[in-house]
Amino acid sequence: MDILGAEGTWFLDVDWCLAHGVAVQSLTQRAAEMVVLAPGVLHWVRSLGCNTQVAWNFGLCSRPQIAALSQRYLLNETEIGFRSVLPGQTLALDLANLMGHLPPDLLAHLKAVLDHAWHRSQDHLARFRTLHPNHPAFQKYDRSLETIMMCLDCKEEILNYYLLLDSHLLSNERNDGKYFCLKCCNTTLLDELRKRKFKDTRLFYKLEVKDVEKLQANLSRRIKDEKFKPKPIASLKEKWQEPVSILTYEHGKR
Ligand SMILES: [Zn+2]
Repeated sequence: MDILGAEGTWFLDVDWCLAHGVAVQSLTQRAAEMVVLAPGVLHWVRSLGCNTQVAWNFGLCSRPQIAALSQRYLLNETEIGFRSVLPGQTLALDLANLMGHLPPDLLAHLKAVLDHAWHRSQDHLARFRTLHPNHPAFQKYDRSLETIMMCLDCKEEILNYYLLLDSHLLSNERNDGKYFCLKCCNTTLLDELRKRKFKDTRLFYKLEVKDVEKLQANLSRRIKDEKFKPKPIASLKEKWQEPVSILTYEHGKR
C-alpha cells in the first residue's frame, strides 16, 4: 500500500487493526466541536453526510511540541523514509533563527533537524554541479524566504537551492508550486521541461551559506554551554510502539 499515493482515498480497516492487536478509538464529531490529537497519532476522518471538511494542523510553541516535531522529522528522514507533511526544515530554521532564547535542549533538537537538512541540501548541490557542469549561476531571490516550497516532482520541502520555471517567475509573483529541488533536476526532467516548451528555467538559492554556518555555530555555542545531549531517535521510536489510545472497538462490531 502506498499510503501517500492513496492519501485521501484509503480508510482505516478496523477489523484488520483489531486482528493485529492495534488499538483504535472512534468518535463522532458534531458541529462546533474540535478534535485535538497528540503528536504522532494516526487518524482518519470520514463525513457522515454532505459537508465540507476543513482540517488545520497547528502546534503550540511548547517544549514537548518542538521536541516531538524535531524527532519525528528526523525519524521520517533517517529511518522510515516517509515524507514529512509539515515543513519541518523551514520551521526548525525559523524557530532556531528567531527564538535563540529557547532552552539549549530545544535548540539541540532544532539544530539536529537543520544540520540534517543542510547537509542533504549541500549534497544535492554537489551532485547537481557534477551532472550539469555548465549550468547557469544560482541567483538570490529574496522574496523566496517568505515562501515554503515543495518540489513539484518529489513533493519534498526545499530548504535552499531550487529550479524555477522562468515563465512563471515572470507571470506569477508568488510562483506557487513551480519549484523543483536539485535532486529532481536530472537530465530526464530538464528534457521533459524543454519538450513542454518551458525553455527557460532559472536556478535560485534562499540562504547564504555563511549565514547558515553562523547560525549553526551560534546554536552549537548555546548548546555546549549547557552540555546537553538530545535523546537518541531510537528511544522515541520505542515509545511510539506503545498503544496511544484506548481500545473501543470490539472485533466485528462497528
Ligand atoms: Zn524533488
